[in-house]
Amino acid sequence: MSRHFLILFILLGLYSCKSSKPSSATKLPKALVGEVEMPSYKASPTRTVDVYHTSLDIELDWEKEEVKGLAKIKLGVHRTPLTSIDLDAKFMLIHSVKIGDLAVKFKSSDISLSVLLDSSLVFGDTLELEVNYTSRPSLANNKKNAAIENDKGFYFINADESDKLIPKQAWTQGQTQSNSVWFPTVDRPNERMTFDLAILLDSSLTSLSNGDLDFQESLPDGKRKDFWSMKKPIAPYLVMLAVGPFERYQEPNSELPIGYLVEKEWISQAKGIFGKTPKMIETFGKILNYPYPWSKYDQIVGRDYVSGAMENTGAVLLGDFLYQDQRQRLDGDNEDIIAHELFHHWFGDLVTCESWSNLTLNEGFASYGEYLWREAAYGKNDADAYLEDFLGSYLQEADEVVHPLIHYRYDSRDQMFDHHSYDKGAVTLHYLRWVLGDENFFGGLNFYLSKHAYKSVEIHDLRIALEEYTGLDLNWFFENYFLSEGHPVLEYDWSSADGHIELEVEQVQEKGKSSFEIPLGVEIFTDDGKKTYKRIRITKAKQNFKFDLAGNVQYVHLDPEGVIPGLILESKSYQEYRLVLKNTSGYRARLIGSAGVLLSATESGAPISDVVELLETKDEKLLANIILLLDSHTCHVYNLQDKLEHLMIDGASSDVRTNSIEAAMAYYAQKLSAEKLERTVYDPSLMVAEAGLTAIMEVDFDRAIELAGKKMNSKYIQELSPVAFIFSVDGDPSEENFFLRVLESRRTAERYEILSYYVEYLLNGEKPEVQKRGADYLVKYLGEAEEWWYKVLAVEGLKGMHAMYREQLDLYVDAEVEGHSDGIDDLQNKKKLGAEMTTYLREALDRARENESDSRIKVLLR
Ligand SMILES: [Zn+2]
Repeated sequence: MSRHFLILFILLGLYSCKSSKPSSATKLPKALVGEVEMPSYKASPTRTVDVYHTSLDIELDWEKEEVKGLAKIKLGVHRTPLTSIDLDAKFMLIHSVKIGDLAVKFKSSDISLSVLLDSSLVFGDTLELEVNYTSRPSLANNKKNAAIENDKGFYFINADESDKLIPKQAWTQGQTQSNSVWFPTVDRPNERMTFDLAILLDSSLTSLSNGDLDFQESLPDGKRKDFWSMKKPIAPYLVMLAVGPFERYQEPNSELPIGYLVEKEWISQAKGIFGKTPKMIETFGKILNYPYPWSKYDQIVGRDYVSGAMENTGAVLLGDFLYQDQRQRLDGDNEDIIAHELFHHWFGDLVTCESWSNLTLNEGFASYGEYLWREAAYGKNDADAYLEDFLGSYLQEADEVVHPLIHYRYDSRDQMFDHHSYDKGAVTLHYLRWVLGDENFFGGLNFYLSKHAYKSVEIHDLRIALEEYTGLDLNWFFENYFLSEGHPVLEYDWSSADGHIELEVEQVQEKGKSSFEIPLGVEIFTDDGKKTYKRIRITKAKQNFKFDLAGNVQYVHLDPEGVIPGLILESKSYQEYRLVLKNTSGYRARLIGSAGVLLSATESGAPISDVVELLETKDEKLLANIILLLDSHTCHVYNLQDKLEHLMIDGASSDVRTNSIEAAMAYYAQKLSAEKLERTVYDPSLMVAEAGLTAIMEVDFDRAIELAGKKMNSKYIQELSPVAFIFSVDGDPSEENFFLRVLESRRTAERYEILSYYVEYLLNGEKPEVQKRGADYLVKYLGEAEEWWYKVLAVEGLKGMHAMYREQLDLYVDAEVEGHSDGIDDLQNKKKLGAEMTTYLREALDRARENESDSRIKVLLR
């Protein structure tokens, strides 16, 4: 059998081509060999008090960007007698603290409030604290740790309404421990409380919080007070509040109140964006045999949100990338994220990880919820294809660093939000499901949820609940896959003789646990067309399995269902890959089969029909990946131009069409039909249209400029971006207004690409007046932009233009010294222009430097 280890790398390459979902995932630093200092054990937070209920009465000060609050906190004392009560209260101004009517002494710091008691309290004592405070979120902007982008807890967005493109709004982000910026509490995941919240606001604004809106009180001067209450206990990090001119779309036919809160101009799209929510709620309730446990489900879109989305109980906050119209949604809506946050309402909100070390009990499950929704809505194949993304993202991260899923020794808690907790968590749960079978797995999950509802959990609670339910010992599984680091990497080989077959499996992983315990399926295909399925349990680093089997064995395929939370290195022959592709039904098996056929086709002298057949699969997910695996040699030998040209227009998914355009361009470019290529520019999918226009730019630049002219007023950034690319290369002065108009009319997140093309455009050729205006614009931009990587671009533009004219000036001065007499007037003019522009740009750089407060940028401006 010939060996094709290459496939592993190609498949890994495949994984790395896929973009993962937006998440707050961060990479851990690489441990330095020889200098490893083990981070300390992260204990679950010690419980000294138990908060039962919090009553908040708050008012926002939009001008100062502060929150005035009165918190009444009912709590009880835990096992250790107390002479003071310590609450998390970050950067707050504490005005007074009372117990009953009595003012009491307190101490406060940047992180906590310590209430001093006259006599000590013991287990079972309860009391109610009343804290009068001002919250100052702007002081809580922690940028010390790069992993923590921001932890202000409470965010005022466009409070002064200087940004005309969005309305002002405010929203909160509690995870991980930031809600204690806006109300005093025990800000730990193993705390749980009910709460009510009253907020005073302008009657033109809408508020949203977790529980029910009990009533609204109209007040004089255009004010209103909204009263929210959350009657079931939740962890403090899940408390949320949002305020702004939001409009609400309420699902009309749902018994459970389900609402979508968006800005006015998006209200007509709300149903399109969120409309699958009722079906998802029903689906998850059925799968878990546990109905949605909360009194309502609202989702709201916030501007400049600091994360992807947050599962605040019954009041999910999502970033403004959710704002997509029907056309934009053709290239992928955000159903996966919607499903993820919803699934958290069982895993994360109903049962909550007691510490961030156990985060995968929230995130692994929520990510697996994405799989479960796809499986229910679009079938197992679609879900399995999606699971490959999870595995791929984890494997990519595992290349850099591995840690146990349940990780007691992380550096900072934000680092727990990585591809281990999410993606490896999901594939591990999928494997556990396969090991247990659906009945045991879902029955066990129902038992776990019922047993621990409204409580915090750690990994052992999951194991014990599953063990109680199934009667099985599962310690081995949890020890291998939740508590050890790394993942299995397997090689296998087989031989057959005299009515039996021998399978040899070896674990070859270099990182993490050296030997895993791995139950897996094996499929054996014999020449009578029969498939035999066996289940094996790998327990050693190297192990042989013997089965009695009649017939001539054609291939043996390990893990036909594709469930191993790790890698299997394949080493099949061309014919075996072909048979796997035709006879094994799992998505991963067919991906491996396709890759194997494609990558060994030329070497094996495979007929053209075999390769063409790959591109005729009806499985769009598989097809999109097959196209990515094409290479120049295969395309040359099998001449796939017609096929690709066909797929770039008629491929069913926008992934297939886009990938086909890119492959066709990479391997056939100038040979492609101009007419067909141009049709892609009018594809309903923006992704395809963008790929099409970029392709035309390479084959017929003049035509690309004409087409860019037609698209320059598009409302879609996906169309404006290739236009900007084309104009940046063209460099014509008439295109200046396009850049300035788009930059002015777009929000920061959409500007980066356009700004980078504008800089390219300014650096392309001599257009002094345009460049002077460009320099002024960049100086102004530097003064206003906050994101340093945007500033770096602007600096590049200014310095680049300066260097360009400086060089020109030097060149003509040299020419003059050397006494060139040809075109002396022209020379003089060039010199004059060089001098003038150099001065202008030098002054622009100086101005920018004077205004600049960021020292890193100041250095760049020298
Ligand atoms: Zn999540």
